[in-house]
Amino acid sequence: MRSDELLRHSSALAQRIFQTKGETAVCQQVVDMIASLLEAQQGSITLYRPREQDLVIVATHGYPAVLIETIRIRPGESVIGGVFAAGVPLVVEDVATHWSDRPPRRRYRSRSFLCAPIIGGREALGVVSLTDRVGGQPFDADDLIAVRALTTPVALALAREQLAARIEELSREMVTDTLTGAFSRRYFITHAEQDCQRARRAGSALALLMLDIDNFKQFNDSMGHPAGDDMLRRVASTLKQTVRSSDICARLGGEEFAALMPETSVASARQIAERIRERVTQHLHPVSVSIGVAGLTPECSFQDLVQRADQALYRAKAEGKNRVRVWTP
Ligand code: GH3
Ligand code: MG
Ligand code: MG
Repeated sequence: MRSDELLRHSSALAQRIFQTKGETAVCQQVVDMIASLLEAQQGSITLYRPREQDLVIVATHGYPAVLIETIRIRPGESVIGGVFAAGVPLVVEDVATHWSDRPPRRRYRSRSFLCAPIIGGREALGVVSLTDRVGGQPFDADDLIAVRALTTPVALALAREQLAARIEELSREMVTDTLTGAFSRRYFITHAEQDCQRARRAGSALALLMLDIDNFKQFNDSMGHPAGDDMLRRVASTLKQTVRSSDICARLGGEEFAALMPETSVASARQIAERIRERVTQHLHPVSVSIGVAGLTPECSFQDLVQRADQALYRAKAEGKNRVRVWTP
């Protein structure tokens, strides 16, 4: 390929992938474009997954991805793993002469292939592989130059995608408690306060329920921390299943949960709380919960509401645990 052509293709590819969202979609565009420019009938892009410490084929050209999407390649193993680990490309004109003693097992038609690392900064992010050229002529050093030029913008796009995925993961963690799947304390504080303001403006009812597991330290001490974690998940799920799906259920910390219930009177909230308490004693024996309930009143701020539910919870504990108490002045 002439250098002006190469430059044109490379900037066209860069343009296209910078408008593409998602790692798989980016890799698919790249492998399709590189394979067609170099007239390879088959190609793939393999990316390194640091968490699993292996390489995964994320995009293919010329054969269905379902065939290989479960294949994991260890760095250093096989041709792709070797190119990745060394960070050095491999262009083989003829597999039969390159590996005269023991050629690797191949399912391709031709005997030549090209395999190059995708380099981002100082490390390899993955590998591009091409084989089965139209007409059957082998890949050469010029083809390698073309592949390197074309994969340079790919490294930037991949770095961008990894960052985007990490940001999404972090935002999810800010919103939800990863152990129980309930909303986080942070989410609860902002959204519950908004719900409260809305209810006050509309003059509608709103109730808050606060729940704390009884003697949970003892449960942990005798059953072990993993069993304690499991119990936290079950209590959270009982809470979620008993309130309405639109209510905000949050883990406020440790073994303490809250549910904010818009359009719910104190009387109904007490019934719901009682149902939660019964379900826990029935299904999660020997664990029990204490619950405090408070309803929004015209003069009461969100902070007041939280404090009232907390006081009611304190009373439930003081009066013997495994019970529901409603706040009264
Ligand atoms: P009370 O009936 O008065 O609420 O007593 P308690 O033992 O439940 O309360 P305390 O506050 O003394 O202890 C809470 C325990 O909850 C301490 C800790 O072992 C446990 N805990 C808090 N967070 C977690 C968690 O994420 N996982 C597990 N397994 N246990 C937790
Ligand atoms: Mg407790
Ligand atoms: Mg507690």
